[in-house]
Amino acid sequence: MTESRVALVTGAGQGIGRAIALRLASDGFDVAISDLPRAEESAFTLRKDIEALGRRATFAPADVSKAADVSAMVATVVSDLGRLDVTVANAGVAKMEPLLDTTPESWDLTFAVNTRGVFLTWQAAARQYIAQGHGGKLIGAASQAAYRAAGALPAYSASKWAVRGLTQAAAQEFAPHGIKVNSYAPGIVDTPLWREVPEVFEALVATIPLGRAQQPTDVADLVSFFASPAADYMTGQTVIMDGGMIFS
Ligand code: NAD
Repeated sequence: MTESRVALVTGAGQGIGRAIALRLASDGFDVAISDLPRAEESAFTLRKDIEALGRRATFAPADVSKAADVSAMVATVVSDLGRLDVTVANAGVAKMEPLLDTTPESWDLTFAVNTRGVFLTWQAAARQYIAQGHGGKLIGAASQAAYRAAGALPAYSASKWAVRGLTQAAAQEFAPHGIKVNSYAPGIVDTPLWREVPEVFEALVATIPLGRAQQPTDVADLVSFFASPAADYMTGQTVIMDGGMIFS
């Protein structure tokens, strides 16, 4: 019997990460769910949903901004599920805050999760892929704000531009190891991230050419493609999928 392939998804407790974890399980991956320790209950429910699809699942908690947590996360995945093949650095935070009101602490938090979190997660996963010797996929959460910054989200937009840059650099460094690196740039996705600003969400949805809010499953479809052999000749790309709001 061939060994199952294993995917790790950070920020999988809710929203886009949850949809990605379920989609990759449907695609045949065993799935490691990662999120902050406080997400244990939702991770438990997700684990049951993945197991109901006939795949194995485990919870590997981590604050992705902390190097020791991220190393422990990858070690847990390998010890519980045996290997690692696809890593989705999805965890992210967004705070609507004009530049004039942004404190250094708030700026640092945004970059710690959205940018350093991707760097640490990919670094730990790439070390594991190289040790395994058969390549792998690194996938990251960018945003349409990585192409056209949102005026209300300066720190967030800058942190996502950085993910786009890291995607290009990592793709070059890791190509000789057979590791492909791509990121997704969604538009306005209906997740708890917008919970505190429902009126902004509705106003933005009204501007989407395809006429509806993006669903987490739409993003999961793109990640499923990145993870599949169909995307094996693709690396270093940050792909906009936003219902036609902006163009790369
Ligand atoms: P969400 O807020 O619904 O979920 C984010 C998850 O990340 C949560 O489960 C949270 O606990 C986790 N998280 C936060 N800080 C963490 C940390 N330090 N360590 C580990 N986990 C942490 O967000 P979402 O809408 O599902 O967004 C997922 C990703 O997609 C984010 O990177 C976000 O920036 C990006 N994105 C979202 C949208 C959107 O419209 N919702 C658009 C473009 C990009």
